[in-house]
This record gives sequence, structure tokens and C-alpha cells, in this order.
Amino acid sequence: MSNEKSIDISSRKVVAMRDVHEAVAAGATRIVIDENAVVTPSAKDFLQQRNIVLDKSGKANAATPPSTTVVAASSAQRRPAPNPRLFTTPEAEAIKKEICAVGKKLWLRQFVDGNGGNISYRIGPNEVICTPTLVSKYDLTPEDLSLVDLEGNQIAGTKPRTSEIFLHLEIYKAVPEAKSCVHCHPPHATAYAITGRVPPNMVIPEFEVFVGKVAISPYETPGTAEFAQTVLPYVKTHNTVLLANHGIICWADSVTHAEWYAEVLETYCWTLMLASQLGAPISYISEQKGSDLLAIKKKLGLPDIRFDTSRMKECQLSDLKVPGSIALTPGPCDGNTGRPAETDLEMLVKSVPDAVMETIRAK
Ligand SMILES: [Zn+2]
Repeated sequence: MSNEKSIDISSRKVVAMRDVHEAVAAGATRIVIDENAVVTPSAKDFLQQRNIVLDKSGKANAATPPSTTVVAASSAQRRPAPNPRLFTTPEAEAIKKEICAVGKKLWLRQFVDGNGGNISYRIGPNEVICTPTLVSKYDLTPEDLSLVDLEGNQIAGTKPRTSEIFLHLEIYKAVPEAKSCVHCHPPHATAYAITGRVPPNMVIPEFEVFVGKVAISPYETPGTAEFAQTVLPYVKTHNTVLLANHGIICWADSVTHAEWYAEVLETYCWTLMLASQLGAPISYISEQKGSDLLAIKKKLGLPDIRFDTSRMKECQLSDLKVPGSIALTPGPCDGNTGRPAETDLEMLVKSVPDAVMETIRAK
């Protein structure tokens, strides 16, 4: 009895896995909650399995703040309490199937390996369906998915949510139009990300319309709050961001569309790399024709930093030095010979993954 330790989290209206996990990690044998608090099924199971007492004698206005608060209470408090019931609606079931189908696409296209990559969908104002940690995207089933609130607390689902969910949540908090995020590690786009380069623009129309300007966010350790926040300067004006030394993240109005953007970017990067091997300069779409593409993009309601003339005033459409993105051209050709400059060729060969070299050799 002398080892009993009580932790009070009665200021929480919803007691989720993350809350009880942190309390137990802090040594709690009894957790005091408000009598009207909603306890998620996974949190209940977690406590039952460990014989932790759930004491409902607390009061919501208790002075002790929850130890799990991770963001300024002001923004979190403005949101409604998360609703676990949104996880089992017909819409949620359809979204879960779509996430599993997209997971298979990512794996089949070699955009993810091992347990890499993650997918999410914002189904309510404070509810996001997401993929679990440590499951291959090829093997995903609807039962593997979970529901989290915008602070990352798991409120439904039995498998622990991905540790990279905070990256997605930062995007949902910053961009109201973002309904789905797909994070993956496609090799050719990631090759750009590991060299700190973004692909040049105005080479292929589809890329300009659906993706366009790509930003690159600085490296941070995956799963940390710092990592999640690296994308914030870019996500309002870019639907696709390269994550330095890591991979990419795309957001869209649906899970399927977010995965499309990953495909469009990856194929574009791959095509540019192949073109760089041909020894001839890449030809660019003219500025006038480029304006037509941007007009199409605007009509589709897709974001592009080039719509923001105040941020683009010193830049031309095809210019690479856009505020908010570290932009360097990939392996430019030698102006006189049309062949790649020696140093650039060397850098390119070093950065291109073996898969690309295999493909080129096979042709
Ligand atoms: Zn990742």
C-alpha cells in the first residue's frame, strides 16, 4: 500500500491513451478523473491490463493542470471535445478503406519501405483518422487505424497511432483546406531532399498544375514537435514539401488526391534525373504558356506560392529562388557543350539511388 501513487488528471474532459500512458509512466497506481470525463476504449483497456485504479471522484475544475498538455491551452480549448463516435460512422468506414487502398499503392510503387510512411484524414473539427505505428502500408486493414484529436491524443482504435502524426496535425491546424496528409519516402523525390534541392519548374505541365513549387523543410528528428513544426512556413502555399534527409509530405482535399501529388512529384523527379543523363539541356515551358498552367491551377483551387505576387515580385515564373524554399537547380548542363558539368554529374551520380542506376542500365 505504501507504493500507491495517485495522479489527478480531472481537468481532462476526454481521457485518452496518451493521458493514462503518461500517468502510468510517472508511476501512477490510481488515476483521478472527473466523474463526467469520457474514457476512450484503448485507455480503459490499458489501465485494466495493468490493474490501475480509475477514480472518478475528481472535479473538472481541479487546480492541478494535466501533465500531458503539449500546446498552448488557448488554441486547444477553442476546439470541441473530440468525439470518438466519429470513428465508426459510414463515412469513417469508407475513409478507412480508402486509406488502406492508398497504403497499398504507396507500397507497390516503392514509396514506403519497412513500416515507413503514414496517412491521415481529418474527419471532424478535432478528429483525425490515422495509420498505426509499426505496420507495413501494404498490410493495412481498417481495424489497424485509429482516431486522434488535434493534439495527438488517441481517442479510438486499438493499435497505437503513428509517432509521426504530429507532422500531419500541424498541417491540419495551419491549413483549413487540408483534409488528408500522406507522408512517404519515394526514392527520387527523397534524393532531392537529401541534397537540399528542389526540382526546377516549368518542365512538365501536370507537375505545374498539381504540385508546382516544392519547398524543402530543414532536418529534424522524426516524431518530435520540432520536426512537426519544420513544415509550418511552407504548407499554406505548397501542397507538397520535401523533408530534408527524410522524405516528403503532401496534403489535399482527399486521401486519394494527396497520394496523387506524391506520385506526380516522384515521377517528375525521376524524369528529371533521367533527362539529366541524356547529355542535352532540358527545355522549359515559356513564361506565357506557364501563365496558362497557373490559371488552370487557380481554377482548381490548388495552392501555389506564385499566386502571391508580393512574395514573387523579384521572381519570374520559372525562377527558382522563391522565398520559403531553398531552391537549387539539379545538375545544370554546361552551357557550351550541352553536357552536364563534371562536378554536377559527379554530385548527381552520388545522390541518385541505386534503383535509378539499375533502371538506366536496363534500358
Ligand atoms: Zn518518415
